[in-house]
Amino acid sequence: MSIRTRLTAWYTSVLAVTLILFGVVVYFLLAHLMLAEVDRGLMQRASDVVNSITVITRGQSYIQQVVLPDIDVFAYPGVFVQVLDTQQSIVARSANLGRYALPIQPATMSRVLRGQAVYEIATAGAQRLRLYDVPIMVGNHVVGILQVGQQLGVMDVALLRLRVILFFGSLFVIILAATGGLFLAGTALAPIKHITSIAEQIGQSGDLGQRVEYHGPKDEVGWLAATFNKMLDRLQATHVALERSMAAQMRFIADASHELRTPLTIIRGNADILARLGAARTEEEKQVLGELIEESQRMSRLLAGLLTLARADAGQHIELGYCDLGQVVTDVSRKGAVLAANHQWQLTGVNEAWGTWVRGNGDYLQQLCLILIENAVKYTPEGQPVEFGFARQNGRARIWVRDHGPGIPEAYIPHIFERFYRAPETRGLVGTGLGLAIASWIAQEHGTKIDVQSTVGVGSVFSFTMETTLPPGEENPEPSDGRTDNGDAAPAGQGGF
Ligand code: ADP
Repeated sequence: MSIRTRLTAWYTSVLAVTLILFGVVVYFLLAHLMLAEVDRGLMQRASDVVNSITVITRGQSYIQQVVLPDIDVFAYPGVFVQVLDTQQSIVARSANLGRYALPIQPATMSRVLRGQAVYEIATAGAQRLRLYDVPIMVGNHVVGILQVGQQLGVMDVALLRLRVILFFGSLFVIILAATGGLFLAGTALAPIKHITSIAEQIGQSGDLGQRVEYHGPKDEVGWLAATFNKMLDRLQATHVALERSMAAQMRFIADASHELRTPLTIIRGNADILARLGAARTEEEKQVLGELIEESQRMSRLLAGLLTLARADAGQHIELGYCDLGQVVTDVSRKGAVLAANHQWQLTGVNEAWGTWVRGNGDYLQQLCLILIENAVKYTPEGQPVEFGFARQNGRARIWVRDHGPGIPEAYIPHIFERFYRAPETRGLVGTGLGLAIASWIAQEHGTKIDVQSTVGVGSVFSFTMETTLPPGEENPEPSDGRTDNGDAAPAGQGGF
């Protein structure tokens, strides 16, 4: 439930309870006051009548006759007067009673005969009546009962109207308060909604340049907006600083790798010349020269890998064009045969690849395949099979490299694509730990990813799939030579990492 709905529900409930309590109190207070007013009038009438009664006695205690006043004098419209003797027979009644008689309960009768005055509510026909029953006393004797009654019709109608007014009035006020409250809460919370949507947009786009535009008063919400904007200022500043330092770092790596390449090429070239000239005569000299050549080769592979990744980090993208995978896998199988010269080099479905067009970069795809093949060759014992395969599957092309190496424990698989990661068992072997990081970047640039299936002690299969397209002539007039149509200078040939 939103804060808006909760707030509205809360204060509407509080208002409803208050109104109900107020209505109930007002209603019952009014009903009580009106009845008290009726009672006061009845008592007045009764005392007037009692004061006007004449009692004729013979001797001290014997009542010979009670002379009643003309009771119509005391009756007003809606006020009835009736006198009963102690036997409950009507002695007199006001003319406005017509043929009706005022009722009296036996319990009331006996209380009045004991000298008490009693108020009660009775019904006569459809009318509610308020009755005041008073004993008529002569000395200490009750000689009769005076009943004064008043119709409660007017009071009942007034109270009914009050009930209706209170009910519908309260309902109207509650509905008004709920709608008004919903609107007010919505208006008050709109800036918060705005802040939330800005935060959401920033989360999605990563654009820290956005700000909350708040033009309202400097209240809690205004404060929140200002704090949020200040926080974004700081975040943006930190982000910019971080980006700058990252860019500087990447530039440094790229520059360093680039600058180191030339001297390294010279060292490698000179070492090769020395080797060719047979400059190393003793076994020890030959070993030193061999190590020199090997390490300088490893270092140039490392530098090439670092340069590629630095460019990728700098946001460089591989340019994609139309590319016939037949050309890619044919080139790769030829180069792979050289790499796997000491292994059983097996090809599956490679000849069927011709005419399978994809959006990609032939040189980079070759590099990807060769990185996988080089690893397969490196980790498979000599003489064992290394397989390079191609197949079409549901409109996609699948390329795989299967080896019979040690396999990769499941716990290492998530890490093998990380830079410089090398599984503990393979650390003694030649390698830079950059090959799969580069392969993974190339796959990602081609909208795919490398899948690894590996069983320890059996071997591994590295594969990736690509969506196939129609040949360029049939779909798009863009030219292609089957390798790449953009002339992008990718490091062709061996994976080399
Ligand atoms: P490296 O130069 O060490 O081969 P990679 O990035 O190509 O660097 O591979 C990272 C790690 O993944 C390797 O050190 C190795 O532990 C593991 N790995 C890669 N390919 C295979 C494979 N075919 N068989 C077994 N382990 C492999």
